[in-house]
Amino acid sequence: MNIPSKICLMCGTIFYKRNNCSKQKWNNTKYCSIICKYQSKRNKPQDVWKKIDIKSGDDWWRCWEWLGSKYKDGYGRIKINQLSYLAHRLVYEQIYGNIPIGLYVCHTCNNPSCCNPNHLYGGTSKDNMNQKVREGRQAKGKQCFSNVKLTDEEVLKIRRLYSIKEYTQRKLGEIFGVCQAEISMIVNNKKWKYLLG
Ligand SMILES: [Zn+2]
Ligand SMILES: [Zn+2]
Repeated sequence: MNIPSKICLMCGTIFYKRNNCSKQKWNNTKYCSIICKYQSKRNKPQDVWKKIDIKSGDDWWRCWEWLGSKYKDGYGRIKINQLSYLAHRLVYEQIYGNIPIGLYVCHTCNNPSCCNPNHLYGGTSKDNMNQKVREGRQAKGKQCFSNVKLTDEEVLKIRRLYSIKEYTQRKLGEIFGVCQAEISMIVNNKKWKYLLG
């Protein structure tokens, strides 16, 4: 007597109906094991397309918005096997192939949540940075322009301005072109100690 068999939709192995499995249950079985059933519910890289508002016809050239969850800066986020990925990067990889290390995926449309492959291009970190600056999305005070050399006068001024409590460390950083961490070191006398009266 032939034992009914199926091919697991997840792993592709052939599996057989067990004696204690009802006919109805067997008909609904798609996977060889609980593990494969669980795996099938998880996102796969190609599932990225399910959450994109794909435009077709005359509208194909518009932005294809990401409909899933997003990072704070607007980039689409998708979870695959417990790890979060940038949606537009997955789109890029599936259309144009693997992204070489160090290459960023940038938007020609300046819309971070857009997943239209026609709006994506591979660029360097500098391209990405330039784009972010152009879009004004660069988080203020995050980037430390440490090549700014402060003069003795400026350091004294920073301490004075901070002591009158009119300015926050962040604001002072913006005024003098250094990061907040640098201001913190100055006002807490961790740096420029020789200027302490
Ligand atoms: Zn399987
Ligand atoms: Zn776009």
